Amino acid sequence: MFYRLKKWISSIGSEKIRCPRRDEGPAGLMFPGPDHWRPGKTHWESRKSDYWPADYLKPRTCSFCGGVNISDAIHLIKKGWEIEPSTKDYKWYLNPPGYYEHCIKLRSAIGNQERTNQVFKESKYKSAIPPVKIYGMHASAEQIKELNRLYDKQKVIRLHNQKGVLN
Ligand SMILES: [Zn+2]
Repeated sequence: MFYRLKKWISSIGSEKIRCPRRDEGPAGLMFPGPDHWRPGKTHWESRKSDYWPADYLKPRTCSFCGGVNISDAIHLIKKGWEIEPSTKDYKWYLNPPGYYEHCIKLRSAIGNQERTNQVFKESKYKSAIPPVKIYGMHASAEQIKELNRLYDKQKVIRLHNQKGVLN
């Protein structure tokens, strides 16, 4: 459940990018590059259902895989965005501040529809749509190290909060 982010395939290039995920399947050959970092506007304002919390700058995303620019991701994490591991050790989600607390409340309401509705009604929390995805393939070795360090820090803070130490 708590997978640490790993660099899965070695990354190529820097600002003018060639998405490292191109080599994973036939799509990379069907849609030749070049790839680039799209402004967040492209990703979070293209559909009616899209949502982005107004207090934060939208991160750039890879034009091929949709993964977020790692420097922008680190910036958001330092502003309080919360890391959510996935079942893949090269992929994480990034959620606006308050996500973990919201999940705890929802978990306590499992099996009770009335209470679940109440949690959603009272909560000010709202996830970004589409979700912010971090792919380890886009990160340098140093960025992987930094992301794992920030993730460990968040885990420690959560643990302390559960024990009431930092409340
Ligand atoms: Zn990519």
